[in-house]
Amino acid sequence: MKAAVLRAFDRPLAIEDIAIADPRDREVLVRIMATGVCASDLSTIRGKTASELPLVPGHEASGIVERVGAGVSRVKRGDRVVLSWAPNCGHCFYCQESHPTLCDTYGGAAMSGGLWDRTSRLGPAEAPLKHYSCVSSFAELAVVPETGCIPIPDDVPFAVAALVGCAVTTGFGAVTNDATVRPGDRVAVVGVGGVGINAIAAARLAGAEVICAIDVNPAKREVALVHGATHFVNAADADCREQVRQLSHGRGADGTIECTGRPAAMTLAYDITRPAGTVVIVGIAPVGAQFAIPAIGLPGSKKHIVGSIYGGGVPERDIGRILSLYRQGRLDLDRQIGRRITLAEVNEALRELEAGVLARTIIAFD
Ligand SMILES: [Zn+2]
Ligand SMILES: [Zn+2]
Repeated sequence: MKAAVLRAFDRPLAIEDIAIADPRDREVLVRIMATGVCASDLSTIRGKTASELPLVPGHEASGIVERVGAGVSRVKRGDRVVLSWAPNCGHCFYCQESHPTLCDTYGGAAMSGGLWDRTSRLGPAEAPLKHYSCVSSFAELAVVPETGCIPIPDDVPFAVAALVGCAVTTGFGAVTNDATVRPGDRVAVVGVGGVGINAIAAARLAGAEVICAIDVNPAKREVALVHGATHFVNAADADCREQVRQLSHGRGADGTIECTGRPAAMTLAYDITRPAGTVVIVGIAPVGAQFAIPAIGLPGSKKHIVGSIYGGGVPERDIGRILSLYRQGRLDLDRQIGRRITLAEVNEALRELEAGVLARTIIAFD
C-alpha cells in the first residue's frame, strides 16, 4: 500500500510503497477513505513530541472495514467506521474508573509505536515502521485495535466522519464533559483552529450567552463568528484580558477552553477565567514546556484547572451524540471541511496548516 512515512523530523513525508501485515486477534484491517491533517500530526512531524521514527502519521480518519482478525465481534467486513486514536481495553484501572481516554493499555501501546501487543503491522518484519496513536491513517490501509473502530450511519460522509475522529470530539467534549457549560454562561475559547471551532460550536449548542473567541490571527474572526462565536478578541491586543472581562460581567469567563498548546495562551486562559470558574487545557504543548500562573492568587480564586484529552469523556458515546446532532442539522460539520487533496499532496497541506489555514484539509482516497 501507499503510505506517507516520517523518517526524519522536520523533513517532508515520503510517499512510499510499504507492506501491511494481516490483522491479528481483536484487530481490524481498515481501508482509509478520508483523513484530516491535524495540528498534532504537525507537532509530531516537527519533532515536538516524544515519538520514535520511522512512523506513519495520521490519526483523524474514517474508512471501511476490509478484514477482521480472530475474536472480533464489534465490526464486520464492509462496515463504515470512524477510527478512534484512543481505543481502550475496558479492564485497566482507568477504564474501570470511567476514564477510558486514560487507558493504561492504550498508553503503553501508543508509547511503543505498536498495537496492543506493542508490535507493528507496518513495513517489513525486519525493519517495521511505528504506528501513530494506533491509527496511522496517512496510508491507504490501517490495522487498528477492534475498540478503535466505531461504526457510523450510511448517511455520514467519510470526510465528516474523519473530522469527528479527532477535532470535533476533542473540542465538543472539552465543553460538554470538562467545562460543563450551562445555558447563559460566558465562555472564552483561546485558539480558533480545528479544535477551537468545535469548542465554539459546542458552547453555542449548550446555550452559552457569550462566546468569546480569542486568536492572534485577525483572519480567524470571521470563521469564529460563522461557527457561533458572539465576539472576537485579538490576543495580540494589549488590553485583551480587559476586553474579555468586559464581556463577562467584569468578572471573567465562567469557563475557558485553551486549544493552542502554547504556554503563554494557557496563562492567558487562566487569567481571563473568573474566580471559581473552570480552565480547560486542551492544546498539546511541546515536550518540556511549562506554563506560569500567579501562585498567591490561586487559593483565593478557587479556579479549577482541568486537562482534557479527546474530549475527556467516553469517545464512542460522544461520537454517537455528535453524529446525532450532525444528522439533525444542528451541528454544521460540512462547513468545517476545506480543501480535498490526495495523499501525494500531504506536505503542502502541512505547510498550509502551519501558516494558519481556515478550514480542515482532508486527504480523500475515493
Ligand atoms: Zn488531532
Ligand atoms: Zn484500559
